[in-house]
Amino acid sequence: MADRSLAERLARRIRGEGPISLADYMAAAMGDPDFGRYAAGQPLGATGDFVTAPEVSQVFGELIGLWCAVVWRRMGEPARVHLVELGPGRGTLMADALRAIAGVPGCRAAFKVHLMETSPTLRQLQATALACVAPIWHDDLSTVPEGPLIAVANEFFDALPIRQLQRGPHFWHERRIDLVAAEDGFRFVLDAAPSPFAALLGSAFQGASEGSIAELCPAGLTLARTLGERIVRSGGAALIVDYGYANSMPGDTFQAIRGHRRHDPLVDPGMADLTAHVDFARLAQVAVEGGAAVHGPIAQGALLTHLGAEARTAALAARAAPDQAERLRSGLRRLIDPLEMGSLFKAVAIADPRQDVPPGFEA
Ligand code: SAH
Repeated sequence: MADRSLAERLARRIRGEGPISLADYMAAAMGDPDFGRYAAGQPLGATGDFVTAPEVSQVFGELIGLWCAVVWRRMGEPARVHLVELGPGRGTLMADALRAIAGVPGCRAAFKVHLMETSPTLRQLQATALACVAPIWHDDLSTVPEGPLIAVANEFFDALPIRQLQRGPHFWHERRIDLVAAEDGFRFVLDAAPSPFAALLGSAFQGASEGSIAELCPAGLTLARTLGERIVRSGGAALIVDYGYANSMPGDTFQAIRGHRRHDPLVDPGMADLTAHVDFARLAQVAVEGGAAVHGPIAQGALLTHLGAEARTAALAARAAPDQAERLRSGLRRLIDPLEMGSLFKAVAIADPRQDVPPGFEA
């Protein structure tokens, strides 16, 4: 019989194969073709689960566009650069970025736009928002052609599936998702055997006390490594903005947001947005291992301020109607105020070691 919900589908799977990894649970909750968050609804925006920086203010995407243009200039203005956005959501950031880039002679024509997106629902919204540039969609980076690349990702890495390990008396053990007896509810269980993923944990986890939780994002690490290697091989840079911590540390950051509120991540999978904080130190480490230079992480508020967010907002507000001007000013505050998005959100740049420090990251 067909499943009526993702909870039912996952319960059937767990009965068949035993407890599943948190990564499998997250991937299904977000990406299941029938019941995943991105299939069932539209998680972004005022009517969805959460609002992202490009949806708060157009200045965010515009400044990132100018960041890309400056990187392109410093590269010597190559005739062809792949401009790649990872997880473009509704296409708002890219649309704002391209509008700003249009003011830089030669730059817009040099950029070929690529969107890495798995959600068919969001691909449709991106196609509408970016109809004028004929973007090319990808499931992953492997199909983006070789050559110089500038990549941007906002609130993308937090959405990638993680694994959680818990420290036992002697070893790290993987936390998996099992069924609550005789019901379709879910609970965490611990593997009895030590986890082979413990080998991927950095030095910050040595000596962790019993019961500590370590999070690993294998998909995120693979991407950071690939971006680093490509940038070293062909030139370019990547700008990653997300919420997370600057230094690796134990802790459970797995969370669910539904309709702008916290939600139990093990209840009603597919109905809420599941994420984890990004471990920027670990991402930086793998990119450096690939030969790239890494700058930051710095606070999002600092990056936007260095890139001229205040002046840009003031210029826009001066030309806008009073209510629109107020929206621009309050949007900027929300993006840079340390009590709002300004400090939990951070930015890191993966860069070409032969090039200068990217804009906004200079000390
Ligand atoms: N950058 C956008 C959207 C953030 S939400 C913004 O700032 O508004 C996360 C985005 O990543 C969504 O577009 C989601 O569909 C996409 N995504 C999540 N996992 C993905 C994966 N494994 N591969 C490609 N895209 C993914």
